[in-house]
Amino acid sequence: MEAIFFVKLLVYFFLWTLYSYTIHVIAHLNFRFNFLKYIHVKHHSYKYTGLKWPPLSDYFFWFGGLRASLDVWITFTLPLLLLLFIEFDVALTLLVFHYFYEVFLSRDILDHNPNITGKITRFIPIGSFHMKHHKYYKCNYSLFITFWDYLFRTTDSCLDARNKKIREARHAHTSKAENV
Ligand SMILES: [Zn+2]
Ligand SMILES: [Zn+2]
Repeated sequence: MEAIFFVKLLVYFFLWTLYSYTIHVIAHLNFRFNFLKYIHVKHHSYKYTGLKWPPLSDYFFWFGGLRASLDVWITFTLPLLLLLFIEFDVALTLLVFHYFYEVFLSRDILDHNPNITGKITRFIPIGSFHMKHHKYYKCNYSLFITFWDYLFRTTDSCLDARNKKIREARHAHTSKAENV
């Protein structure tokens, strides 16, 4: 019984992180009336100042404004609320985790803490890994596990390699043109 619960928890945790990864990727696509982008912009305009304790409204899952709150609710909370109807215990466990992570850890403690570097950021998208997303936007979309960025080749090193290829192709093109 217990083992089945943990297997289910693991499976749904992976699906949940895949969902949030996908929503985050879409939020960074440029197309007209991209509502996800409209609300996600708030996450990128927030100034992280090393606050150790969350603002009071965070405890009530209100993140300083409707757009910032919708960003969190749509990216993380909504699928777990729907999961309550399918796998109640699993959904409740993930909701408790989501609540504590979002309120106490997501701002300056883990996600936006530039002092967290090294091996751990290869597996958990915190500190320097997530800060590169804030710097370059088009990479490191994963939340909670870096797995999806590695699987879909959207890490910052993949972005570097892609940009390098584009630069080389452009360079080859201009040198060719000069030689004509
Ligand atoms: Zn983003
Ligand atoms: Zn962030």
